Amino acid sequence: MYFNIQRFSTHDGDGIRSILFLKGCSLACPWCQNPESRSEKHSLLFDERSCLEDCQLCSDACEGIERELASNKIIVNRKAISEDQIIALRDVCPTQALSVVGEEAQVDTLFDTLMKDKPFYDQSQGGVTFSGGEPLMQPQLVADIAEKLQQNEVSTAIESCMHVPWKNIEKAAPYIDCWLTDLKHTDDEKFLDWAKGSLKRIKENFRKLAPIAKRIVIRVPVVPGFNDTDEELQKIIDFAASLESCKELHLLPYHTLGINKYRLLDMPYLCSDKPLNKPELLERAQQYASEHTELNVTVRG
Ligand code: SF4
Repeated sequence: MYFNIQRFSTHDGDGIRSILFLKGCSLACPWCQNPESRSEKHSLLFDERSCLEDCQLCSDACEGIERELASNKIIVNRKAISEDQIIALRDVCPTQALSVVGEEAQVDTLFDTLMKDKPFYDQSQGGVTFSGGEPLMQPQLVADIAEKLQQNEVSTAIESCMHVPWKNIEKAAPYIDCWLTDLKHTDDEKFLDWAKGSLKRIKENFRKLAPIAKRIVIRVPVVPGFNDTDEELQKIIDFAASLESCKELHLLPYHTLGINKYRLLDMPYLCSDKPLNKPELLERAQQYASEHTELNVTVRG
């Protein structure tokens, strides 16, 4: 299942790219900018600000939605709404106050859409990036599309948190030119506490991927209270430098642009409501990398 195709992106790999966003992730990072991608199923977003006062199309269509008499507000009882009911709501709302995220993925249809911008990929040395969510939760889909893209001389990249079984990575690896992979920490307990996943599994996957990948770029979201110290960033840099196919590392200062989506999903936002403001820390990390490793470390917005 996928939830978006973003065309003409210049942020997620080289050149002009199309980004295919797939649903489902096995981590629960509280700073995630795409919380609608976490579930592998359809998701329901509700934005009260766009709801029409005298409308009841959605409450008529779904038992789990009602207009509360006292407040005249729409109440979405998510626990009472099945996935089939969510799917049935897709075209109900005239203002998109209520919207359904998630489309069934068909390899040929997605491939045809992604190929529409091939002239732009060719001109800019761009291509297609698989993102999410965690795209390798759907390894066969990624492998099938990436193989067709490579056969048509389109460069492929993937954004992955690496928190998947190795067999998933192995399936897609022959068809991926560039791995844009997260390494968020090096301490197993802290990682488990914040992201609810196994760092051991991620490190093992990196060790196995490094000898067979053409290019690994490690990306580090620098998050207040999680990994925003010199020591933590230096350990991440040291790990990245130990991987033979990794020559680049991007530091991504934490921002809060995703907060609104949590409100639309009725999910609590558990991370800081202030962006990271530690330019000196990032400069020191770059300095450390240049003095102790051969990594090219840059700060990305
Ligand atoms: S269909 Fe849309 S506009 Fe109408 S009540 Fe529901 S959320 Fe509001």
